[in-house]
Amino acid sequence: MAVSDHVDFPTFMEGVKKRNPGQDEFVQAVQEVAEDIFDFIADKEEYHAQQILRRIAEPDRVVSFRVCWEDDAGNIRVQRGWRVQNNNAIGPYKGGIRFHPSVTESVLKFLAFEQTFKNALTGLPMGGGKGGSNFNPKGKSVREIMRFCQSFMTELYRHIGADVDVPAGDIGVGGREIGFMFGQYKRITNEFTGVLTGKGLEWGGSLIRTEATGYGAVYFLANMLAAKGQDLVGKTAVISGSGNVATHAAEKIVQLGGKVLTLSDSGGFIHDPDGITQDKIDWVKAHKTHRRGRIEDYCDEFKGASFTAGKTPWGVPCDVALPCATQNELLGEDAKTLVANGCIAVSEGANMPTNLEGVHHFKHAKIMFAPGKAANAGGVAVSGLEMSQNSGRRSWSEAELQQMLKDIMDGIHKSCLTYGDQGNGYIDYVKGANIAGFKKVADAMLAFGVV
Ligand code: NDP
Repeated sequence: MAVSDHVDFPTFMEGVKKRNPGQDEFVQAVQEVAEDIFDFIADKEEYHAQQILRRIAEPDRVVSFRVCWEDDAGNIRVQRGWRVQNNNAIGPYKGGIRFHPSVTESVLKFLAFEQTFKNALTGLPMGGGKGGSNFNPKGKSVREIMRFCQSFMTELYRHIGADVDVPAGDIGVGGREIGFMFGQYKRITNEFTGVLTGKGLEWGGSLIRTEATGYGAVYFLANMLAAKGQDLVGKTAVISGSGNVATHAAEKIVQLGGKVLTLSDSGGFIHDPDGITQDKIDWVKAHKTHRRGRIEDYCDEFKGASFTAGKTPWGVPCDVALPCATQNELLGEDAKTLVANGCIAVSEGANMPTNLEGVHHFKHAKIMFAPGKAANAGGVAVSGLEMSQNSGRRSWSEAELQQMLKDIMDGIHKSCLTYGDQGNGYIDYVKGANIAGFKKVADAMLAFGVV
C-alpha cells in the first residue's frame, strides 16, 4: 500500500482544520461530506491511494482581489473580491456570485466545495466554483451598484470564460447585477459568450432560470413525499427567506396545493395563519426586489399576519419546512422543535442552512431531509441548460425547460435513493447525495491521474 490517506475520520478532519485555520464554514461542509464518504471508500483502495477526498477538499485555486469603487458622494471605497475554483474534473467551474457583508474566504470555499457535488448530481458537465465580495448592496444607489459590479468584473474577467468558469447569481446578485457584470465583460473582451448565467431573456438568458431553484426544491420535496405515498395537498409549510429562492418555493407549494405559513428576512419572520397566497407572494416579490423593502411591512398590507423580530420561523408548527435564506439558520434546537411539532420533511432551498447538529437530529429522528446539494440543484441545472442554449445559439421553450427541470430533479432523487436507501424504510438523502456526487467527480479524477 502506498502512503495514502488511509487515516481515520478524526485524523482526516484534524488535518482539514489545521490547513484551514479559522475557516469554520468550510470545515463544517467538508465534515458533512466526509462523514459519509469515509464509510463508502472504506473498501475502495484506489480512492485512498490517489488521495481523492483530500484533493477535492483543496480548491484548485482561490483568487482574491481588491475592488475599488467610488460612491455617490465621491468617496473611494475598497472591498475584497474572490473567486474560488474548487474542482473542474467534470466540466468548467460553475457557481454563483454573492454580495453580502458576511462573505469571507471560508464561506466561499464551503459554497464552492458543496457546488462541486451538487453540479455532479445534476448529470450535466459542470465543475464547482463560487465567488463574491463583502460588498453590501443594501442602501446603495443603482449607480453605485453598477460601478461596483464594473470594478469587480474588471479583475474577475481574466479568470473566467465560457469554457473555463461560468458564474451566476446568488445572495445580493440578481438579474440587474448580472447585467452590469456581463456588460463590463463584453466591453473588456469584445466577446458575446455565455460567460455568465442568469442573464436577461433579451441577451442570452434562459426561461425559468429565475424560478428554477425554488421550484426545484419543491419538486424534490414532492418526490420525497411520493416515495412515502404522500403529496403536498393540504400540507402546511414553513419557509425562511423572502428572496429569489424563498418566494419561488412558496409559489410552487401553493401551486401543488399546500399552504405557506411564513416567510422571513434578516429582520425576523412573518406568520400568516390564513396562508400566503399567490397574490401575497407577488406583493412580497415586488416589495423585496423593486422597493427593496422589509418583510415586516407585510403585516401592514395583509391583516391577520404577525411579525416576530430577530427570530427564525422554525417554532411555527408545520408539516414541511424549507429553509431558503442563508447558511446555519436552522440550528440543533430548531430541528428538535420542528420534529416535536410534527414536521415530516425538510427540503433545503438555501446552501447549508442546517448546522451539523440539526442535520444529525433530523437523521436520528428519521424524517425526510433533503440537503441543499440535492434539493436546490434546480437553479444550477437550468444554468447548465442556459450554457447549452448559448453554445448552440438557440433557446428552448418554457414547456421544454420545465420538463427538463423536472426530469433532472427526478434524476437527482433517484441517485440519492441508489446510495441512501437504508432498506429499512428510511432513506438517508444526505448520504445518498454525498456519495452519488462524490463518485462521479472522484471517478473523473481517477481517469486524469495525478494532476
Ligand atoms: P436573495 O438575495 O434573493 O435572498 C436572500 C434572502 O435571505 C433574503 O430574504 C435575505 O434577507 C435573507 N438573508 C440573507 N442573509 C441572511 C442572514 N445572514 N440572516 C438572515 N436572513 C438572511 O438570495 P437567494 O434567494 O438567491 O439565495 C438564498 C439561498 O439560496 C442562499 O443560501 C443561496 O446560496 C441559495 N441558492 C440560491 C440559488 C439561486 O439560484 N439564487 C441557487 C442555489 C442555492 P434580507 O433581505 O434582509 O437580506
